[in-house]
Order: sequence, then structure tokens, then C-alpha cells
Amino acid sequence: MAYTFSGGIHVEEYKNTRKCRIETLPPPKTVIIPLSQHIGAPAVATVIPGEEVTLGQKIGNVAEEMLGCPVHSSVSGKVREIVKKTLPTGASVDHVVIENDMKDTPCPDIKPIEKKLTDVSTEEIVSVIREAGIVGMGGAAFPTYAKINSALGKVNRIIINCAECEPFITANHRLLLEHPASVINGIKILLKALGVHTAWIAVEDNKPDAIEKLEELTEDSRMITVKVMKTKYPQGDERQLIYALTGQEIPTGKLPADVGCVIFNAETCAAVYKAFANGTPSISRVVTVDGDCIKRPKNLLVPVGTPVTDLVEFCGGLAKGPYKLVSGGPMMGMAQWDPEMPVTKSTSAVLLFSERFGKKNVKVPTCIHCGRCVNHCPMHLMPMYIAQFSKIGDFTRAEEYGAMSCVECGSCSYNCPGGVEIVQHIRVAKAAIKTEKARLAALNAQK
Ligand code: SF4
Ligand code: SF4
Repeated sequence: MAYTFSGGIHVEEYKNTRKCRIETLPPPKTVIIPLSQHIGAPAVATVIPGEEVTLGQKIGNVAEEMLGCPVHSSVSGKVREIVKKTLPTGASVDHVVIENDMKDTPCPDIKPIEKKLTDVSTEEIVSVIREAGIVGMGGAAFPTYAKINSALGKVNRIIINCAECEPFITANHRLLLEHPASVINGIKILLKALGVHTAWIAVEDNKPDAIEKLEELTEDSRMITVKVMKTKYPQGDERQLIYALTGQEIPTGKLPADVGCVIFNAETCAAVYKAFANGTPSISRVVTVDGDCIKRPKNLLVPVGTPVTDLVEFCGGLAKGPYKLVSGGPMMGMAQWDPEMPVTKSTSAVLLFSERFGKKNVKVPTCIHCGRCVNHCPMHLMPMYIAQFSKIGDFTRAEEYGAMSCVECGSCSYNCPGGVEIVQHIRVAKAAIKTEKARLAALNAQK
């Protein structure tokens, strides 16, 4: 029996690239590497314009006591400049622009861990993961070392999120098929770090080939089990995943660790393994390039910092004029304004859509009180009320109606026959509520 949750939606899958092997993108001429690709404090540049850098060299660092990760160069070459640019999330941060010398001169600091896994302590594992700059590669970009630290002593199982429930994206699916051993070895390292003995690999049942491969590779393992999930959106949301697998609900404001679980993305596990086996920091990732404007959709292994235009060109260019560029999936991803935006550690997909996909066919968005958004909300909210309160600026009522519990999955907007951009209104309310709370906390701190 496949595991599932209540609510959610069945979206058209558009997994056009499910059979596209991961291809390595030719080396980019220039990379533009943001110094903040993680939740927490941005890194501070440790290089200056004109300096020569090696492949994998640290180019930005965050003080030990702060939440954040170092950032490394994904090419060898010369730092051209350090400029302020806008991230896919909208924040403005420093980016290190490096001209690739095409020599791939490796950083001399990159070395594998020479101890056996059984002889490595939790502290050593955490330190390797932090130094490698590994973050949640499913999109959240939370520093992995901090996730391990916050879960230590609280969890009894880890869950590997391989649901990949967003339409179009197949990057994780291909990784599981082509590099399953890297994912499984990464899981073993994470189990050792956390001192737990149970790992569940959660895969949606629309990936039978990946399920078969993982079951074959884990059949002798007493610790690692493959769990088959029903294909439904948003199965990959951590709250839905935990509910589906354990029947436990995570209260608002609490974390998976509060119900004994910690969740890692499949590519994050592979990155952990690469950091151990080769000493490689987080400098590349698999990206699905798709959408009806892309001539030849592909899965690509891409150096972090590569401009999106390089990916599009390698995929044969544009089939038609794009209406929308999205970083991430079409449901939870972010629309972008800069075609030169660089790939970051958490860019799972780059999608280019024409008006057919990108524009709602409604002139004046109007709620017709059909209740569909309520029926499909996996968090059991009343999205239309939260959206309406947000629209009129009544954020207190929006909060009373559970705005902060919204996981921004977009199931409500997807199904709304009135064309109401429900999730956008809820995002506005959440941002306003957070700002107000921060203001009150600052006032209290001054008293
Ligand atoms: S789905 Fe749209 S039209 Fe229906 S109740 Fe919700 S907001 Fe209103
Ligand atoms: S209200 Fe939030 S959690 Fe509920 S369906 Fe809409 S976006 Fe998803």
C-alpha cells in the first residue's frame, strides 16, 4: 500500500525529462556566484577582484558562531569583480564573478576523509558538512550541519525526501537512477552523524524504476527501507511526508525533529557522500531545464553560478518567446526577471513557459465561494478567507485564520476557478505578520 495524506491535488505531471540522462554542461566562460545561497547570514568574500582562484576554493565564509555556510568557487580562474545582484528570492547580496580559465586547477585543500565511517565522530561529520557548504538542495537551502545539530538527541529516524512531486522536475529521479549508491552512502553518513538506526527513502509511485533500483540496493540493509508514496501534490512537503509515513501532525511553529524525524533531500545526501569520499564541496548540482519554450528539455549537471542563458543555449535555445522564467517547480518556484540569473545550490529546475502555461485566463480575479481551495488545502485551512483578509490589509485576522500554517504549496491557487492568486495574497500576509512580530520583539528588547 502506498502512503499518502489528506487534501492535496493531482496535477498534470509533465515529467518530460524522466528518461533524459544527466548530461554535464560544458564549462561556463563566467560564473556569478552568490555569497548567500543558504538560510542564515550571507557569507563574506574571502577573495578580491584580480585574485586567481582554484576549483573548490573557499571564496566566502560565515563566522563559526553564526548560522550559514561557506561558498566555494565552481571553476578555476580569476575573480573579475564582486557585485551586488538580486537573488532568485528577491534579496540583494554580493556575487563573486569569476572568469573561467578552463584549467579546472583543483584546490589543494580538497582531500577525502581518510578515516573509516565507524571511526568518525559526529563532530567531525558536522564539521566536514559545514566546511563543504552543504545545504538542503530540494529548495529550502537550510544549512545541513545546522539541521543535524538541531536534531541531535531528538530524532529516531531520518527520512529521505525523494517525492519530487512538482510537475516537470526529474532531477532527483535521474540522480536516484544514475547515482543511487552516492545517495545511499550519504544516508549512511547521516545515520552515523545522528546516531540513529532507521532511514526511510520516500519515493512517489510514479518512479517505479527508481523504487526497484533502491529496493535492490537496500535489500540487505537493516537500517534503510524504501517507502512507496502515492503520487499526489504536495507529497514532498515535509509535513505531508511525515503525516503520510507516521500519522503524526507537526504543530504550527514546530519542526520535524519535534515528532522524532529529520528530513534530507536525495541530492543533499549525495553531496554529503561526495564531501566525504572526495572532499568535494557543494559546487555543482543537477538541474531540470524544461517548459514549452525550451527546444530540447534536459537534465544537466551544472556548476553553481552558471547563468541560466548557458543552460538554455545547451538545450537548443528557445522554441518560442517566453512569458515566464521560473526558478524551481511551477507550483512553489519563483518567477524571475533576470535571464542571466545564476544557478544556486538550491536551483532544482529552470522552466521557461509561454503564455499558455504562464498566464491565467481570467480578467478580474473573483472568489465565487466554490470552496475548492478548502477541500484541497493539505493544511486544512480556509485559504479564501486568509487571502481576502490579506487583500484588505487585515493581517491580524489573516493570522487568526492560520496564515502562518500555510506551506505555500499553491494547491488552492491551482484549483481556483475564480483565478484568485490565493497563495500570493497569503505570502503577503505572512511577510507582514513576520515583520510586525520582529518589530514588537525589537521594541520589547529595548525596554
Ligand atoms: S477556490 Fe477560488 S473561487 Fe473557490 S472559494 Fe477558493 S478562492 Fe473562492
Ligand atoms: S492555503 Fe497554503 S497550504 Fe493551503 S493550499 Fe493554499 S498554499 Fe497550500
